[in-house]
Amino acid sequence: MSTQAADIVGDYDLSALIATQAQRLLEVRATPARLRQLLDEPGSFDRDLWRSVIDLGWLAALSSQDPEEQSTPAWDALADLVRMVGRYTASIPLANAVIAADVLRTQEPSVAARISSGDTIAAMALGVADAEALPELVRGKIVGAVANCAFGAVADVLLLTVRHGNELVLVRVDTTGPNVAKTLTAAIDNARGAASFAFDGAAATSIGSPGTLERARSAAAVTTAFEQIGGAERCLELACDYARERRAFGQTIGSFQAVKHKLADFYTAIELARGCACAALSHLKAGSADLRKSAAAAVLAASEAFEFASTETIQVFGAIGVTWEAPPHHFYTRARTLAVEIGSRFAWRDVLVNALLKEDTAAGGPLPASGTDASTIDEYRARARSWLAQHAPAHEIKGGESVEERLALSRRWQALKAATGYSAITLPKVYGGGGGTDLERIRFAEEELRYHLPTVFYGVSLNMAVPSFAMYASESAKAKLLPPAIRGEHIWCQLFSEPAAGSDLAALRLTARRDGEGWRLNGQKTWTSWAQYSDWGYIATRTDASLPKHKGLTCFYVDMRSPGIETRGIRRIGSDQEINEVFFADVYVPDSQRMGELNGGFGVILKTLMIERYALNDEFAGGPKLGRFVSLARSAKCGGRPACEDGEVRRAIATCYVEWLGQRSIHERAMAKMASGAEPGPEGSIRKLLAAKARQRLSTLALDLMGPAGLRLDPSMNERNDFTYSWLDAPQLRIAGGTDDILRNTIAEKILRLPQDYRPDKGVPFKSA
Ligand SMILES: Cc1cc2nc3c(=O)[nH]c(=O)nc-3n(C[C@H](O)[C@H](O)[C@H](O)COP(=O)(O)OP(=O)(O)OC[C@H]3O[C@@H](n4cnc5c(N)ncnc54)[C@H](O)[C@@H]3O)c2cc1C
Repeated sequence: MSTQAADIVGDYDLSALIATQAQRLLEVRATPARLRQLLDEPGSFDRDLWRSVIDLGWLAALSSQDPEEQSTPAWDALADLVRMVGRYTASIPLANAVIAADVLRTQEPSVAARISSGDTIAAMALGVADAEALPELVRGKIVGAVANCAFGAVADVLLLTVRHGNELVLVRVDTTGPNVAKTLTAAIDNARGAASFAFDGAAATSIGSPGTLERARSAAAVTTAFEQIGGAERCLELACDYARERRAFGQTIGSFQAVKHKLADFYTAIELARGCACAALSHLKAGSADLRKSAAAAVLAASEAFEFASTETIQVFGAIGVTWEAPPHHFYTRARTLAVEIGSRFAWRDVLVNALLKEDTAAGGPLPASGTDASTIDEYRARARSWLAQHAPAHEIKGGESVEERLALSRRWQALKAATGYSAITLPKVYGGGGGTDLERIRFAEEELRYHLPTVFYGVSLNMAVPSFAMYASESAKAKLLPPAIRGEHIWCQLFSEPAAGSDLAALRLTARRDGEGWRLNGQKTWTSWAQYSDWGYIATRTDASLPKHKGLTCFYVDMRSPGIETRGIRRIGSDQEINEVFFADVYVPDSQRMGELNGGFGVILKTLMIERYALNDEFAGGPKLGRFVSLARSAKCGGRPACEDGEVRRAIATCYVEWLGQRSIHERAMAKMASGAEPGPEGSIRKLLAAKARQRLSTLALDLMGPAGLRLDPSMNERNDFTYSWLDAPQLRIAGGTDDILRNTIAEKILRLPQDYRPDKGVPFKSA
């Protein structure tokens, strides 16, 4: 931060201070009436608001005017502020001013100082588009044209990208200088102060090195992404508010799944964009070499989120959405304008994909760690990594083993991990667990995923069933059953789903009837993973059918070797050994094996399902990583040309990177929250929804590239390193642990607070529903 900024804000947190002021200021000044007035005037911008911003000292506080290299703009505060500007579709050249002052401060400190003081207004045309279309610099003069440059109508100086021989360079041009012709034109968003320029030998000063241009472009992309995110967030609020109020067919329109799922998709797109933008912001601050890619990803994700949210908000509003008086059109035109101003999505996609194609391994590494305990967790990760390097290779699946051989290998691996505290990392040491945190558990699992280990048999057991048992069982039961489960001697299964109760779990029918000191279980479970190898089961039963369906459930743990239990395997695509039907005929379970309150089972189930949605440890849902697809795209041919030149393939690569980066960043933020003691949030639902679909999409496209060779099943490969296996196994990922539709319902109802679906059986005794 500059000295001047420090003087202004003293000991206060700059971001918090400015954000509070900005909220108040924009609320009062950027009113819909004022915005409509500006939208009617070509080349307008909100001069009064801009004056207030300058008078309040924001610009000076945000800018770096110090010619010394160490001084950088207050990027975090700027990102918060432009996000707020985006929410109000306000019209001020704030990011332009901060970026221009930063770029000019070393070479032209006086111009930079005038920009930071607000005396000079800067506009930028950084030209990510086709180089052929850019003005040309010849002997210090430029020739060419720039169309619709935002704030060009009111700018004193322009920062332009121009061609100079085979290079692109950044130049400064005075808008009032000779041989510069400015034209104001009516635009879809007049409030951007746009003007077109024609240069016919106008004087230009070259600024900095090619690195300066690169940094200015990336900074503009990051700040634009935050402005777009602000706009998209506001659209989501407007659409949700409207959907909660507007009635049709006797209910609020927010009760219709078509509307709910659309709004859940807005939310997911915005979260993804925010993830990418936050990652790019941290790269911008750190001067990371990954900035080029993350800035491109941020602008691609944020353009898409804003465009989608603004377009569909109008649809949610119906006819009123297309009226001049209603707010949605402000966002509709702003979204399109920002998406084009910053450079088309084709251009940014090229920036991203070309960078990825140059790399050996695309996507997969960690982002810079965030959160308070980053160094501790990094040490933990490093220890885990070196332990795994020593022990994991000997326990990897080589291909061609029988399921029994894999299970035996898996048991040995589990025992070894338990001896070192890497099995059941969050469970107390006294039971043989690691005594660690959720964050450590997740970090270890991420590292473990680098190897192809036979961990699948314990996925449900140690990630869901055993932690749930540990929450509810008595001390003596825990002392007896946790150690063998943690050492891998026992496997636990989760007996929730039934033929008539999957997504609608509370419709389960398997009964538990009182019998002396215990219960008799009768009925059927299905889709139970690894029941055939399980020693213990965590089961949900109906104990009182006279209560409404969510109220009469009770959970138990049951010895899977009890008389009356019969398990039958079900063959599924992609795996013939995993799932089972399990039949219960008068199976006795003592009451001491009850988990939680009598008839309070639904609360117990919900806690487990939250853990389940968080069970994914990577953004590729256990499938091949993007790097493998990029290699395939380099070597495969489409119509005689390298596949990596094909538009659809390039789009798939860009989308996959955006989803990886966004999810990774969301995940890192969630980890930081968990490290500070918070519960896992809704991020798990988003992650599962996106990752499972992404894996299926990418695998399908990979098979297209592989042609007939992709139809072959090679027994030495598996779903982690082979697109054919990955594709075959992908459909189940979108079902197990919550289907796509159920996850969207969860987002819509739990996060966006939209009404629940119509449920005719709600509140009705289960037996009469
Ligand atoms: C490989 C695998 C392993 C599994 N392992 C286990 C396990 O170990 N233990 C266990 O208990 N279960 C397990 N399951 C079951 C899993 O939890 C269920 O399959 C899942 O909850 C979906 O239920 P269902 O299959 O009955 O589909 P249904 O609920 O019948 O859904 C069918 C379709 O209807 C849609 N639908 C349903 N309700 C709604 C709604 N309200 N709004 C919109 N659309 C809706 C769904 O999205 C889906 O497209 C496993 C499943 C698989 C595939």
